[in-house]
This record gives sequence, structure tokens and C-alpha cells, in this order.
Amino acid sequence: MRKYITADWLFPVSEPPLRNGVLVLNDDAVILEYGMREAYPPDKLEIYNGTLVPGFINCHCHLELSFMKSAIPEKTGLLAFVKKVVAIREKFSKKQQQQAISDAEKEMITNGIVAVGDISNDTRSFFQKQKGQMRYHTFIEVFDLGPAGTKQAEETSKQVFAQIPRAGGSSGSITAHAPYSCTPELIAWCDTFSADQGKLLSIHMQEQEEENRLFIEKKGVWVELYKALGADFSWFEASGKNSLESISQYIGNDSTLLSVHNTNTRQEDIDAVHRMDKKIIWCFCPNANLYIEDKLPDFRLFKNEHCVIGTDSLASNHQLSILEEMKLIQKHSNIPFETLLQWASINGAKALHFDQDLGSFEAGKKPGVNLISAMNMRNMSLTNLSQIKKLM
Ligand SMILES: [Zn+2]
Repeated sequence: MRKYITADWLFPVSEPPLRNGVLVLNDDAVILEYGMREAYPPDKLEIYNGTLVPGFINCHCHLELSFMKSAIPEKTGLLAFVKKVVAIREKFSKKQQQQAISDAEKEMITNGIVAVGDISNDTRSFFQKQKGQMRYHTFIEVFDLGPAGTKQAEETSKQVFAQIPRAGGSSGSITAHAPYSCTPELIAWCDTFSADQGKLLSIHMQEQEEENRLFIEKKGVWVELYKALGADFSWFEASGKNSLESISQYIGNDSTLLSVHNTNTRQEDIDAVHRMDKKIIWCFCPNANLYIEDKLPDFRLFKNEHCVIGTDSLASNHQLSILEEMKLIQKHSNIPFETLLQWASINGAKALHFDQDLGSFEAGKKPGVNLISAMNMRNMSLTNLSQIKKLM
């Protein structure tokens, strides 16, 4: 049986929006076509108030940290945040952790998310991923904190990588955590290792200005942290350049870097990676930025860039909702809804190499169908009251 779903507006994403557009799907939720209402039998139409958009792609999450919801104080800065994560990481029972992971995935599905770029340090989220209810690209995240830890980081991550559930078209790669926690050797190793997995890396980037300071002059809180840990930091050499430009040299020009957060990224950083001819995708998780650092990226700089959206984890967010991230970006930029929707759907699908099936209403795809209510249609924008309802 065919389904004919229609609403005030239909955003195919691959084409301009249609007023009163109709989406035609088969029983299996595969898109057959779309068109105007006049073209279809009126008694078959399922009519909704609102805007139809494809399922969302969450390009940055840490499902395994879901049990830390509301456990970490807000706006304390990244260093205090990371310390707290490490301190409570093993403080919850396995049962509590697994329940939180299942609940978090369910929340994402309810919020119209159909695929996730998920960071994993170990296998604790795999029991859920195995069920194949959501499509994942799992990034096995590594850090070595110096050459002494490199070999171990590589070996451990390879073991975790081998266990990544591949249910429902899910995929994976190994990636470096952040510029301040990985040696150049480890970053280069991740890049080489990812060669067979779509050459996709996801690195936490420029989350605070101190990271740039470290790379420019080897000073600041990260130097202090290594000292406090009693860890050897003699291996680290300041490059005199910001962190993004510094580590880009260890990443191949045929790899794609998902640069996550970019809270302190400036025009000169964007220009530098383009000058180096690097493939870069900018991933924004603004609610987490407010939660941790109480600072947002300068979204205006990225208007013409390949951008995607993530929620980060429940350790640093009150919800896992791409719509809420879109609302926040809209509030702090003049980026139009149509562009934000691309970030939330097709751009994310392309980033994770899921665009054959997901990210837009195109015949043959099975992208999921979301209804956004309470938009301001006069200027095509989200309102505080806008909500998401997953229809398919
Ligand atoms: Zn993260």
C-alpha cells in the first residue's frame, strides 16, 4: 500500500521546498516520489499541520556516557569537565549504564534522528548497537598522552574496532581524541588505519582557546595538566600555529576530518585548512558548548562551509535533539532554516557516508520522515515552540 503524507510545507532538501507538497512512500517507508496535492487522490492524503523534513543525522555523540546525565556541573570549563568524566566513569553499575544507553537511543529515535556518528572508547555501547535499531558510524577514540602510550593505544583500539557491530549498515573507524591528548604519530596512525574505513576521522577541535595557546607557545592549562599528572610532556613541540592547522599536516588530503566543536575557530583557521587542500567538515554541538565552556562558535564564519550538527553526550547536554541544536544556532546566527536543515540532514548523511539511503527525500531512499510543528512560516524559521514528531 502506498502512503501519501502531506503538510503545509515539504522540504525534500535535494530540491527547493514545496507548499502543500505530498510525499509518497511504500510500506517499507521507501520514498517513491513527491509532488503537489492536486496530483493525488484527496481521500488517500494523510494531512498534517507543519513542515515535513527528512530524518536527522546526529554527527557527534558519546552514547556510552549517557549515564552521566545531570551528573556533571555546568559551565565549569573543559578541564574540570574532563576530570569529572574520568572520576565518575566507573561509578555506576553496568545495569545503570546499559539502561541509560538504551534510553538515550530511544530518545534519539523519538527526536527524529536516524543515524549517529558515535564516539566509543570501549565496547560498552555495543550491546545496544547490535540490535540494529539505529544506524551508527562508530568512531573508536584513542589518545596516548605521549610516545610511551602510543603502541598500547593502537593495540587496544584495534581490539575494540574489531567488535564494532555492523547491524543495519553501521560502520566504524579509529580516530584521535583531541590535538592536546595525541602524539603526531598516533594521529598519523589513525589516518592510515582509517584508509579502509572510508578515510573518516572525528577529532574534538579548538574547544577552548588554551588549545591554540598550547600549540603556539606550549603554555597554559594543558601544560599544567600534564605536569599535575606527572606525565612526560617533553615530546610536545609548539608549532607556532593554531591547533587545527598544526595537526592537519598529519592527516592525508584524501581523508575527511570531522572537526568537532570549533568554539574558538577563526577565519584564519578555515583559510589555513583550505590552503592545505584538506577535506574538512565542521560539526557543531552548541548546547554542549554552553554546558561546558559557556561559549559558542562564530557560526557566521561557516556559512559557506560543509557543516553538520551533533548533540554530544548526555554528560554535557540536557537532551539528544538535533532540532534543539538547530534552534540554538538560529538564535545566535542569521543562518536560514533551509541551510540549517541541510546541516542536520544531507550534510550529516554525506559526512558519515550514509547518503545513499539517508538525508533527503529522493526516490529510492529511506530517510525517515519528521514533522516540525509551530514554525514561523512568514520568515521560514523555527520558534521556541517548534517540536519534532517522527512520522516514519
Ligand atoms: Zn565529544
